[in-house]
Formats: sequence, C-alpha cells, structure tokens
Amino acid sequence: MAAAARCTLLGPLAAVAAFAAPSALAAAPATEPQGLDFPGIDPAVAPGDDFFRYANGRWLSAATIPADRSSWGPDEVLAELTAERIAGLIQEAAASAQPGSEARKIGDYYASLLDEAAIERLGLKPLEADLRRIDAIGDRAQLARALGETLRADVDILNYTQLHTDNLFGLWVAQDLDDPAHYSPFLVQGGLGMPDRDYYLDPAAKMARMRALYQAHIATVLRQAGVPDARAKAVRIFALERSIARAHWSRAQSEEVLRGNNHWLRADFPRRAPGLDWDAYFAAAELAAQGKFVVWQPGAVAGVAALTAQVPLATWRDYLRFHLIERNSAYLPQAFVAEHFAFHERILQGTPQLKPRWQRAIDETNDALGEAVGKLYVAHYFPPAEKARAEAMVHNLVAAFAARIDRLAWMSPATRAQAQAKLASLQVGVGYPDHWRDYSGLQVERGDACGNAARAQLFEYRRNLAKLGRPVDRSEWVMNPQLVNAVNLPAMNALNFPAAVLQPPYFDPGRDPVMDYGAIGATIGHEISHSFDDQGALFDANGRLNNWWTSEDLAHFRAAGDRLAAQFDAYRPFPDVSVHGRQTLSENIADVAGLAVAFDAWRASLHGASAPIVSGFSGEQLFFLSFAQSWREKIRDQALRGEIVTDGHAPSEYRVDTVRNLDAWYQAFGVRPGAKLYLAPEDRVPVW
Ligand SMILES: [Zn+2]
Repeated sequence: MAAAARCTLLGPLAAVAAFAAPSALAAAPATEPQGLDFPGIDPAVAPGDDFFRYANGRWLSAATIPADRSSWGPDEVLAELTAERIAGLIQEAAASAQPGSEARKIGDYYASLLDEAAIERLGLKPLEADLRRIDAIGDRAQLARALGETLRADVDILNYTQLHTDNLFGLWVAQDLDDPAHYSPFLVQGGLGMPDRDYYLDPAAKMARMRALYQAHIATVLRQAGVPDARAKAVRIFALERSIARAHWSRAQSEEVLRGNNHWLRADFPRRAPGLDWDAYFAAAELAAQGKFVVWQPGAVAGVAALTAQVPLATWRDYLRFHLIERNSAYLPQAFVAEHFAFHERILQGTPQLKPRWQRAIDETNDALGEAVGKLYVAHYFPPAEKARAEAMVHNLVAAFAARIDRLAWMSPATRAQAQAKLASLQVGVGYPDHWRDYSGLQVERGDACGNAARAQLFEYRRNLAKLGRPVDRSEWVMNPQLVNAVNLPAMNALNFPAAVLQPPYFDPGRDPVMDYGAIGATIGHEISHSFDDQGALFDANGRLNNWWTSEDLAHFRAAGDRLAAQFDAYRPFPDVSVHGRQTLSENIADVAGLAVAFDAWRASLHGASAPIVSGFSGEQLFFLSFAQSWREKIRDQALRGEIVTDGHAPSEYRVDTVRNLDAWYQAFGVRPGAKLYLAPEDRVPVW
C-alpha cells in the first residue's frame, strides 16, 4: 500500500498501485471486486471519534507522499495515470501527423518541452527581445505599455476561483453579472510573486521567514540572468511587491461578489485610479476600443496605479525583468527551473523533489492545447457507455435535489419556485464539451518551447478578447476533459464533469453503485448545490446578479451558514492555525448538501430493493466509507498551511468529518453522545 516508485516516461503503471484498492486500476483486472480499500480502514479508531482516520487510518500510516508531490491521494493517483496515458497518446498521434494538424501541434509542443539540449543551448535568448524592451523603458507611458503587454486571461473569479496572477493585473472574460446576455472584461488585482497578500504582511514568524527566503530567491534569479547588483535590486523589488500587497484585497474580500461587481467606464480609470497611463496600458493590452470594464478590487487597482507613478522607473524595470524570467522559468535552462522549484515548490509547498520533465511537459501541453489533447483522451479512455452511465447518475442527483427543495420546511413557496426554475435550466456537461475549440490559429514551432508558450498564452488571451461583443455561449467548458476535477459555473448556471474524474475510485463500473454515489455522487451533488448556496443565491436562472431568495429564507440560510462556519472554525490542523470557517463556507455547505443529496439519490435508485452488503458493511456504511476514502489525502505541513491561507476549501480531513451533519451517518455507524464527532440533533447543520 505504500507509494510505488515514480513513473518514468512510458514506464510501467506501477505508481497507480499507491491507491490500495485494486479497483482503482482501471487498466488492470479487478482482483478484488468490492470496490473500496477495506484493508485501509483502521478498525482501532471509532468511526464516531475520527471518521477520516477510521476510514483511512491504515492507508495513512502506510502511504508516503512521493518526493515530487506536496500531497497524495486518489486525485494525484488519477492525475499520474492520466498523464501517462496522455504521453502515450501524444506520441502515437504525433508520429503520423500531417504538418499543421492538431496532432502535429500537440506533438511539437510536447517534444519542444522535452528537448533539454535545445533549451540549454538557447539560454536566455528566447527572452532577449522582451528584456531589451524592458531596458528601454524611459518614461511612465512606456512603463504602462510594458505592463499592458503582460495582461493575459489567467484568472477566473467565479468558476475556478483562480485569483492569483503575478502579472500586474489579470483579465477574466465572462458574462456580465448585471447583463448576462453579454460578456464583460473583469480586471483582477495581481503583481505578487508569492501566493497572497498575507505572505507579505502577516507578522507570524513563519511568514517573516518566507519573506526573507523570497528576497534571496529574487536575488538568485537576477544573478543567474547576469543582472548586476542583484541583492540591492531584490530588496527594492520585494519592497515594491509589499506595497502592492498592502493595496490588495484579502482572499475573503475578493470572494464577495457584491463587493467585486463594480462597473467602470473607460473614462473612469484616470479619475478613480490615477497614476497609470491607462491609454497606453489598454492600447498595449489590445483593449483600446473597450468602453466598459468590471473592476473587481477597485482599491487594489487604485493603489497599484498610484505605485506606477511613485516608484522609480529603475525599480519597475527590475521588477519586470525578474517577473519575465520567473514566469518563463519552465522553458529556460535547468538552473532557472531548479531555482523556481526551490522557492515555489520546496519552500512554499514543502515538496522535496521536482516532477519529472515529461510530466511537467504534459501539464504545459494541457494548458496550451487542452481541448485538442482532451479530444484524443476521451476517444481512447471515455467510452460512450460510461458517459451514459454518468449522465444517468447526474439525472438522479438532480431529481433528488428537486425533491429536497420541495421538502424544505423553511423555504417559502416563492423561493422554492425560483429554485426549481433554476434547477430545471441547469446546463450539465458530462465528460467533454459538445463543441471543441479551434486551434488552427495557434502557431507551434518545434524546438521553441519558450516561444510556443508565449504564443499559446497570447492565443488564449485573444480567444477571450474575441468573446467581447459576442453572445454568451453557455456550452463552453472551463475545464479540460483530461482534468481530475469538477466545477460549477455559477453565473452560467452550468456544471462541468470532466471525463478524467469519471473513473475509479470515484466512478467504477465494476462495483455496487452505492460506492459511486458516496464518491462521485457526492461530488455531483456538491457542484449542483453551488447553484443554490450563498453565491448561487445571488444569481438567477439566467445568471443575472439578482437575489431570488426572500429575505426570510436568506436569513435562515445565512444563520445555518453561520453555524457551519463556527463548526469549521473550531478545527485546528496545527496548534497555531485553525480552519477559516468563513473563507471555506460555500464549499462546506456544498459538501454537506452534496452528501445529503447523493444519499437520497442512492436510496431512490434502489426502488425499494434492499441495500447490498459488501465485506460485512451495510449499504449505508459503504456509502459513507466511499465518501471518506474518496477524500483521503496525505499532505505536507507547508502545503497545508498554504492551503488554509489561500484555498476556498477546507482541508480534506474536515471535509470528511462533515458526515457528522447527517442523521443517516449516526444511524449507519451507531454513533452516540460522547463520541468526539457527535453533535446533538439540533447542532447538526444539514442546510438543505
Ligand atoms: Zn465546490
């Protein structure tokens, strides 16, 4: 059950054996048909005291986190399995591909990243033209232009909740929240090399240490690039970033939709955010003709704009040089790769070892040509029968959610009718999108890893800019089919369940469905419920920012949320750190709702038949065990600390312990007062 040796390119699939249940090996014959990792359970732990360790205790003591990972669990196992499959597909497809074809582009993109000799030979040459442009910045208009040229579609406020970019600002093109028939450009704060403002401002000793190490990292990168006076420059670059951090909104503030939905006309920028030459900035960002924007964090945009006028140009040039190199380190010689890893992975995440080059190359190829790779992936690994089975399950989950809405005693008929309308118009994508993205405009050159990445990012940016002024396409996907994840698109009222998450141990054709309901079923329920949680309540069926709840219903929902937030605030992963109940509230509500709905859907799917017994466990027990095993995870301390600061989700352990909010869990495991996770019925927070 320990993690096996690392994969090598085209190596054996041994690494996937790290997940103890043989049924996790989709490619291997199932030698144990039961479908859960029963030997991974620790019978010495009482389920009512620590459900996470009861369900996973023996697995936790035996598993080790691979040296090139910051955490390890079924997500990572599936990600590695999927990466191996994709590497095989890319090589096979590229071998016979015509020049200019998608398969050829994928093959050339991947091969360029693997060509270490060419990368070493080129050194910093691929960045020379950009570095010269930075050297030539002689006034504030040129500075604004250089900053504008860095704007990319690299953030996502509501779907991925990817709120970090090291470019000065990030752009998200999405349907307008007041006018859902049209797209708007959302401008998001950025400019920091570390993950969040807390890393710059939190007085805790651990964060102070990160700051010292970050300054040393900046100096090393500059020195490697042959920039003189690296140490003094690093001090000034860091001071500039710290000033940017002071202007930033916190993660929690940035997640408040009503605070962020600020419409600015183009003419508002010089008045509301003086200091930056906005004409030059937007012209360089190819947004000169854009009249309206949504400015998500106005205080941050104003603060950063002021800094562009106050801070010496020389410091800005150093800042831009450093970030240009930092951002491209994956495509530069090994010394840059190693230094980037040393700070961003080893120090910030606690990961001891860099991932093998081929895996990094797969990640990059997925970023650049995601749907082209996805098309190959689903053709080989997502048979139509599995798509149909997943769609049927989604259908059952939606029906169970509808029944639950009808049963809610506290919900008024007016809110109930709106909720049912919203559920009826939910757009659920299973496996892959109906229409694939067109990459014909993307130029890929074999042997030019750095240039390929720059062109791919610009291609993606322009693809997003091209949406402005076009009707909103609700069938567009925001995740690649080969990604092990799932997402709710709250404004679009749509869900994406990528093909790669629809495989064992989440979704397994070889076991009793109760275990699928506890695993992927709870995830499907989780994503559905996001359309109806504190964020989902803000958007009506059309995606308009229009609270459709009566004030009494919303007050009830918020009171339940307060209680759930308090429950999570009480969890302490470290003596000096507790989980942030407020920051993780939406996700915690979604977990409880998803689990409850999945349970209902499973019961309904029995049509009165009796539940199965497998390995001596009842159907109800199997359901909750499958949930707990689907969230099993080992994580390094630094990574866990970082997650608590920046993540909207609670750590996996506490997501599992949320079973304590469901009456059915108490019945399934006979949990009585006195057990550590026991909550009196009135203290349980079912929300839905
Ligand atoms: Zn979620």
